Amino acid sequence: MTNYSDLGARRIINAEAFRTYIGGSLLPQEVLEAMAQASSMHVYIVDLQDRIGKRLAALTRNEAAFPVSGAAAGLVIATLACRTGPDLAAITGLPHGPSRDEVIIHSSHRIPYDRAVDVAGARLITVGNAFTTHDHELEAAISHRTAMVLYVAGAHLSRAALSLETTVEIAHARGIPVVVDAAAQLPPPSNLWGFTVEKRADLAVFSGGKALRGPQSSGLIVGTSRLIAACAANAPPHQRYARAMKTGKEEMMGLLAAVERFLLLDHDLLSKEYERIVGEWIARFQGIPGVTATRAFPNEAGQPVPRLRLELDPTVIGVSGRDLHRALWEVDPIVAVEPDGDLAVFATPDTLDFGEEEVVVDSILKVLGRGR
Ligand SMILES: *Cc1c(COP(=O)(O)O)cnc(C)c1O
Repeated sequence: MTNYSDLGARRIINAEAFRTYIGGSLLPQEVLEAMAQASSMHVYIVDLQDRIGKRLAALTRNEAAFPVSGAAAGLVIATLACRTGPDLAAITGLPHGPSRDEVIIHSSHRIPYDRAVDVAGARLITVGNAFTTHDHELEAAISHRTAMVLYVAGAHLSRAALSLETTVEIAHARGIPVVVDAAAQLPPPSNLWGFTVEKRADLAVFSGGKALRGPQSSGLIVGTSRLIAACAANAPPHQRYARAMKTGKEEMMGLLAAVERFLLLDHDLLSKEYERIVGEWIARFQGIPGVTATRAFPNEAGQPVPRLRLELDPTVIGVSGRDLHRALWEVDPIVAVEPDGDLAVFATPDTLDFGEEEVVVDSILKVLGRGR
């Protein structure tokens, strides 16, 4: 069996984030076992989707749920669902046809992943600006062409946008559903029901391949029975517009195992563990001239996870944050950290495997000429 090193593919220690371009996350044993077991026999996929959906709904306290092949695919399928409902004539007409074709989004919520709306054949209508958004701007944007409001969740994106509660109130008063892109909003686990059950958004889409540590090509949509049924009607195995975004039985069962595992984790204990790692990282950089090590919180996705922020003064230590980031891609194994402007980098503990926190700090110290 050929492995990564046979292929010459280099190992990466991921202290950056759960990112697709570096392989997402590392899969726990429970998830791998669920996937292996799933691959051992044939099942009727429509029935399996329905049963997994019911189980995911119960676990996440939602009316309904649906497994997909990632949050990006989930956003496409959710957009199609809001455009067509369960109407097979409208689904047949996709990506054009008689269905509603506009999706409203806050300007401050524009992110690379909103291309999903284009893929679903709809057009983004932006409201508000980088500083602020007013109720009347959202009200004025809603028309007979509006399929949904796409709301991107995250503490880091909330400043210039209306609250989710206000957005839902305005949209629902006009019969328009709200879909939350919550791809990276786990932890806390309560977000699995917070956006939909508590704040009354119609659908929320989560990535299975980030902190859930399910299969990299998995995700889930939770929300109302009516719209989840419309998601299923648009999704594979049906040979309809979204057929290219299929989810295999292994991914579906792996996702379910990941959600079950995630809900059983002691998240307080994990937080303490992350704080311990960040605290120990900071201690290792104390007293080094030109290096300022601090705790950063929340993380790049606005999640309650602490990170190390390392700011370098190149006039003192000879390298900038950008130089360090680049140099860490030259060491073996590669250590992936997140650049923060020219001078600083972030390192996160939540993506690491046991013991890798030592490799991260040793590799950084070596690049800084302070290796042991
Ligand atoms: C990661 C992410 C996505 C895409 O998730 P995948 O599961 O990788 O498809 C979409 N939206 C946001 C905000 C994300 O962070």
